[in-house]
This record gives sequence, C-alpha cells and structure tokens, in this order.
Amino acid sequence: MGELLAEGVVEELGTAPSPGGKPPILVGVADNSRLILAVDVSNDEYRGALVNLRGKIAEEMVRPVGRLQGQEALEAAYTLAGELLAKSPVPLLGIGISTPGLVDPQEGVVYQAVNRGWVDVPLRALFAERYGLPVFVANDSHMMALAEASFGSGRGRRRLVAIKVGEGIGTGIVVDGQLYLGDGFGAGEIGHLVVVDEGLPCRCGNRGCLETVAGVRAIQQRTEEEARRFPESALAAALDRFPSSIEALGEAARQGDPTALALVHTIGRHLGIGVAALVSVLNIERIVIHGPVRHLGPPLLQAIGAEARRRALERLVRATRIEFSQLGEKAALLGASALLSSVLGLP
Ligand SMILES: [Zn+2]
Repeated sequence: MGELLAEGVVEELGTAPSPGGKPPILVGVADNSRLILAVDVSNDEYRGALVNLRGKIAEEMVRPVGRLQGQEALEAAYTLAGELLAKSPVPLLGIGISTPGLVDPQEGVVYQAVNRGWVDVPLRALFAERYGLPVFVANDSHMMALAEASFGSGRGRRRLVAIKVGEGIGTGIVVDGQLYLGDGFGAGEIGHLVVVDEGLPCRCGNRGCLETVAGVRAIQQRTEEEARRFPESALAAALDRFPSSIEALGEAARQGDPTALALVHTIGRHLGIGVAALVSVLNIERIVIHGPVRHLGPPLLQAIGAEARRRALERLVRATRIEFSQLGEKAALLGASALLSSVLGLP
C-alpha cells in the first residue's frame, strides 16, 4: 500500500473512528491518478475508452469497422488503442481487451473468433509487445458479467449470469465472485444450442442454433421480412422512422402491433430455451441480458420467462430474476476495467 500511496494511486481520505489507539487511515483510490485502456472489438463498431479504477469513463471513442476480418481487424484495434493511448494524461496501468470468440484469458489467446476470422491469435502478446503494458484479454460476454458484478445490478452478489445477445449469443457466469469459464473456456455457449430442428444453417456448421433465430442479425432479417409481408402494419411504418430495425420492432410491439408482438414472442420463446438450460444447470437467480434486444422491452422478458417455466422446474425459474442490463453499450469496457483492477490487485 505504501508504494501505491507514494505513486499517488491511492490517497488518504482522512481518519476513521477508532475504538482506541492510533485511528486507522481511510484510503481511497485517487479518481483519475491512473487510467486503464479498455477496448471492445466484439461488435461492428469497435469501442475504446480510458477508464478510471472506479469504472468512470474519462475518454471514449467509437469506430465503425463493419465486418473486418483477420489482420485488418487487428490493425483497426491497434489504431483505436494507439489513439486513446495518446490521449491519456496519466500513465496507464494496463490494457483490457474484450473480444468475441473462445478465449483463454490466462494465456490471452483467442482460439477462435468466427466473426473476425481469428484462429489462435495471441492478442495479449501482440498488444503487450506493441505498447509495453500489462494486457488482459477476455470474451465479451465474460467482460459483461464482470461489469454487472462490479458496477451493475449484480453488485454485491456472489453469483450472476450475463447473456449477451449480439450477432452471436454468449454467456458470462460469475460464481463466488469469479468468472466460471469451463474446462475449454466455453461455459455458457448457449448461442450454438440447437433450438430449431433442421433450421437455418449456422456459421458453426450446425443448423438451427439459437443465434440463427435470436441473434441480432437474425432479428433484423425477420423484422424486415415481416414488414414486407405486412406493408400496412405499424411495424412497416416504424421501420421507416427508426434507425435500427430492432428499435422499430420494439416500438411497434409497444403500440400493440400483432405482427411485431408475434415476432417478439418467437424470439423470446427461443431465448427462453437457453435460459431454461442455464437455470436448470446453474440455479443462479439473477440473469442480466445485454445488447440491443433491450429495445424489445417487457414483452420479450415475459416470453422468455414463460418459455423457461415451461421447460424447467417452475419453482427455480420463478425464483430467478431476468432483466435487461442498465449498463448500456459500455458494459464490456467497464468489465475490462473491473478485470484489470482485480488481476492487478488494485483496491
Ligand atoms: Zn451454431
């Protein structure tokens, strides 16, 4: 602690009441004395930020990268990190990278990230060599679970499940304050649980995976198809007014449009199959959902809950609170800051 005090990372906040003897000194983290560089390369938009140890974002950048693959996707991540690094007014403690795919956080290697075309990419070593800082890498859903446990609705809880519904669907599981990764780092990979027999082909090679019916791209496609099928519907009208089709779908459902409600119900039913599996195996009573499906609101949560109750022990599902995250699009960045604080042993 003395060393951190000397470096100005922590500051004395005064003295606490003491039953006798020398009063203990309260020590807090000096808000912006040290920053962490957090980068999230898991979506069509890369997002990066300088974050302090309390999870407050000092500087943020968003870069649309579309479906960049391979080395190009890596170069775009370097560029974003470099720009943020140049903006930091204080020395950085390290870099936290949130990435899609199967990731070994101990080695910092992305074994497979289909969307980026990465296979066995040693992200940690590459960034550490380039920037000379400690680097930590984790899967985006895992980062989101850490963010919920540190800054979100799971604060103070020992166990929680975070489900990320993006282009892919993944889960982060926190057990006893720690991420549970599984033997092959694939714990909670419900995106490739088959929920439709003989369904649409999935990028994993199988058919009918949860991602093919409830992932963001699948929802966008279905929304546009339904709007074309029913051009007079509130859904078709909403599509013209909203920038994203998921927002349009949510708005039309709020207006009670039957086409929109039926589609939201179907999406919820499929997600409910995944939730039933999670509840049955883990019996963790807090499930937080991340991603743009938050625009689908209460009708989605109701459909998920109803389907999960139909497929798992009703008592267990009823005891489980299923909700949308309040952390928004910065969740993975906040998770990266939580991860660095914990692995660097900072207060
Ligand atoms: Zn699949």
